[in-house]
Amino acid sequence: MFSKRIQAIALAALTALPLAAQKKNSTPTSVPRPKLVVGLVVDQMRWDYLYRFYEKYGDDGFKRFLNQGYSLNNVHINYVPTVTAIGHTSIYTGSVPAIHGIAGNDWFDRTTGKNVYCTTDESVNPVGTDSKKNGSHSPKNLWSTTITDELRIATNFQGKVVGVSLKDRASILPAGHNPNGAYWFDDTNGHFITSSYYMNDLPQWVKNFNSQNWGEKLVANGWNTLLPIEQYTESTPDNVAWEGLLGSAKAPIFPYSNLAADYAQKKDNIRYTPFGNSLTLKMAQASIDGEALGQDNITDILAINIASTDYAGHKFGPNAIEMEDVYLRLDRDLAEFLKYLDTKVGKGQYTVFLTADHGGAHAVGYLQEHKIPTGFFGEGAEKSMNAIFKTKYGVENLLTSIENYQIYLDKNVAEKNKVDMTNAVDYLVDEINKDKTVLFAVNMKKLADAPIPEPLKTRIINGYNWERSGDIQLVSHDSMLPPYAKTGTTHSVWNSYDSHIPLIFMGWGIKPGESNADYNMTDIAPTISALIKIQFPSGNIGKPITEVLGK
Ligand SMILES: [Zn+2]
Repeated sequence: MFSKRIQAIALAALTALPLAAQKKNSTPTSVPRPKLVVGLVVDQMRWDYLYRFYEKYGDDGFKRFLNQGYSLNNVHINYVPTVTAIGHTSIYTGSVPAIHGIAGNDWFDRTTGKNVYCTTDESVNPVGTDSKKNGSHSPKNLWSTTITDELRIATNFQGKVVGVSLKDRASILPAGHNPNGAYWFDDTNGHFITSSYYMNDLPQWVKNFNSQNWGEKLVANGWNTLLPIEQYTESTPDNVAWEGLLGSAKAPIFPYSNLAADYAQKKDNIRYTPFGNSLTLKMAQASIDGEALGQDNITDILAINIASTDYAGHKFGPNAIEMEDVYLRLDRDLAEFLKYLDTKVGKGQYTVFLTADHGGAHAVGYLQEHKIPTGFFGEGAEKSMNAIFKTKYGVENLLTSIENYQIYLDKNVAEKNKVDMTNAVDYLVDEINKDKTVLFAVNMKKLADAPIPEPLKTRIINGYNWERSGDIQLVSHDSMLPPYAKTGTTHSVWNSYDSHIPLIFMGWGIKPGESNADYNMTDIAPTISALIKIQFPSGNIGKPITEVLGK
């Protein structure tokens, strides 16, 4: 028996030998990598949009991803708050706010007592615009490296990196610390711009792109539905009370024939329409040409953010015909973009991943109509919480800010009035927990001992940045939205509607398939790292999704 086994092993070794030798002979001289990696992050794309509009999608857009790619059906965001800046950062760093430093779109800086926008950098100048507010941005608040940084390092800065988005933060944070360019849309002139962090003048190809005035051309005919409106059977009637208004429109109904005039007045109107996505993908195409991305054997990364899906979601909510039309048109735009990649880079020569920075809740009005628990909470919360402190300690303005469902207390006010911070935080937590309009509140410093179910507990800990986050985390009841979302919707919370995101890898090195296994947003970066054989980003906590890799 024993000797038979040895015999078998010896036999296996013998037969394996010629194979190993053969393999050694055919070892490639360079590291096998795709020519280009394209990150396509669709802002506020709920996972269920892949299937809700499935029958109306063409064969070459989202369906091409589903048929030719590997789709992961159960990917969640493993931190709160689920907002844009953190989403893009976590996708590209494989990390979470506690580590990578991006604790929100905005947060409160305790040392300066000021609100901080994630990418604002007063030390840099705008390039391509006169607007300091729109142009003075950089990744200076980002503490971790990104897969884009790691690609630059792995290729001795020969692999190129470009970021493109309508939003500054969704271009800057994915592109990392040392890209060849990061470009975003300026509402004052309708151009793609950058900052002196990256360069002192726009490249000629960006100037050429801007001079074509694509924004104006795309909105020239207003916005009507792509298909006859009666075919939008996946959405609510066109005119419902919980949809917001676009530009000068008097009602949230098609056609939006004032769009061109509205755009001429205020360029940001394009952001809420499908044409903002078309504009972004045209700019992405121009960047492939302009920077010769995917044209040699050194891998490049193009980080694209599709942002109009988020603007439209905030304005109209997930169940509006407007939203369905944004997705149907995006589907057509994606088909065209993939075809462009096929021609320009070559079929099978590039890898794309499609995902989202977060999802979005259903509109409160929509849920109410269908008897699903919902409502608003937090109206005048800062005032009433400060009143609680006033009664208890006789101190004004102990609470300084509520950002990202986190409450910040003012340390200086506490010290000056000899209020013990820990006591004040605990007292407010107890008071809030008496309030039935929130699910619960928790002291950030006592998270480990708090009776909170998983995975919520881990998500709060992952999202808690010691320098930049608040003192108390508020957790709302399901589908309870803040008062500013009276029309349309918003996102920020741990619940599936905000945290369940699509994730599909497609192309070079990816086998077709589908999986219902659980993964986290932070697994995206190490999967790309493993695929293209570069170091994991510095703050990575994720794991490669090995089931997608292979032929
Ligand atoms: Zn948003």
